[in-house]
Amino acid sequence: MFAQIPKAELHIHLEGTISPETLLTLIKKNKIQTEIQTLKDVEKLFSYENFMDFLKAFIFVSNCIKTEKDFELITSKMLEELVKQNIVYVEPIFSPPLFVYQKNLDYFKILENINLAYEKFKNKITMNLLIDLVRNCGEELGFKTLELALKSRKFGVVGINLGGDESNFPASIFEKHFLKAKNEGLKTCCHAGEWSDFESVKTAVTKLKVDRIGHGIRSVENEKFLDFLAEKQIPLEVCPTSNLKTQTVSSYENHPIRKLYDKGVKITLNSDDPTFFGSNLNNEFEILLQKGIFNQTELLEILENGFKFAFGKPENL
Ligand SMILES: [Zn+2]
Repeated sequence: MFAQIPKAELHIHLEGTISPETLLTLIKKNKIQTEIQTLKDVEKLFSYENFMDFLKAFIFVSNCIKTEKDFELITSKMLEELVKQNIVYVEPIFSPPLFVYQKNLDYFKILENINLAYEKFKNKITMNLLIDLVRNCGEELGFKTLELALKSRKFGVVGINLGGDESNFPASIFEKHFLKAKNEGLKTCCHAGEWSDFESVKTAVTKLKVDRIGHGIRSVENEKFLDFLAEKQIPLEVCPTSNLKTQTVSSYENHPIRKLYDKGVKITLNSDDPTFFGSNLNNEFEILLQKGIFNQTELLEILENGFKFAFGKPENL
């Protein structure tokens, strides 16, 4: 039933939407030396059992992107797929460091190409971009990326995010970055409480003062903090299949999403890296319904939260 209802997706990585077909196109076009040549090979690449294999696949896919123009293809394919799912509003996360600092691609040309693709879909879906500072890049490069984000509002950038290695690069390193972003009118999100405990979420909320938390599921470890999250109405972008596939949780039934909801924490449902996890937003809603974790009314409320906690709203539709 959720396929027919207009939806918003707030946590989806642009690079994590590259489909097997698009990957093969990129491999061929960019003459990538690899054994991956058929859809079957890609299927194998995407069938991992742990986080390290997922990471390897993600890095391989990212390395198949060689030009700024590739982002037009990737964005186009992503938007095509989202429109098929009746998603009318999306905030993709783009992580520039690998492409801009390592591969020397032009950041603004990448954004131009993302927007070229968006032009063709504007009457069906509204897109606002979030720029990921990437924890592993550290404080200094983080500032560089923030400066880029601040200069790219005309390309539809509305905020920043913080992904990457949560265990070794605590959010506190990025306090100044996030406060500056907020001061200058950007919205802020931070992945937290996925690989590290609830303290990581607490730092993101109390020090970085973020508007939304990516995942945040380990907040369940502390009852007092859950009350705080509920009281402050800081929404979590929950991505159940992602958590399952990276073994952060052992099953849908054991996912803390129900407890978070029951505690009054605001939940949005998202797909994270849909092609890598063999899922999509419709699927996330259907699974939670089928497994009896939420009923239809509750899921419609969660769906509505996607619009309520978005940093913009659907336009020109
Ligand atoms: Zn994510």
